[in-house]
Amino acid sequence: MSFIDVRNKKGTSDKVPPSGYSSWLAFWEKKKGNKATKCEVMSCKGSADLGGHVIKAGEGGKEYILPMCASCNNKSESENFKAWDTDLVPVQ
Ligand SMILES: [Zn+2]
Repeated sequence: MSFIDVRNKKGTSDKVPPSGYSSWLAFWEKKKGNKATKCEVMSCKGSADLGGHVIKAGEGGKEYILPMCASCNNKSESENFKAWDTDLVPVQ
């Protein structure tokens, strides 16, 4: 396991989860086979309020879902933060 720099992808609030999933957080839980219990942003103690869309720094536009608290999900698009690589679930 290693942790990496990610940042929020903006303009995703109108993206609906894939068919069969009630939310992006449900999508993440199903793909991981785990319950999302907390915000997975490094050193944040917040709760898993939603499945946020993030991109890896330096990787281009590929989107991943990460359980996040509302506060972390509101970080600026230009602010990098750290998360475990294994907590990122690719969209699609
Ligand atoms: Zn957080």
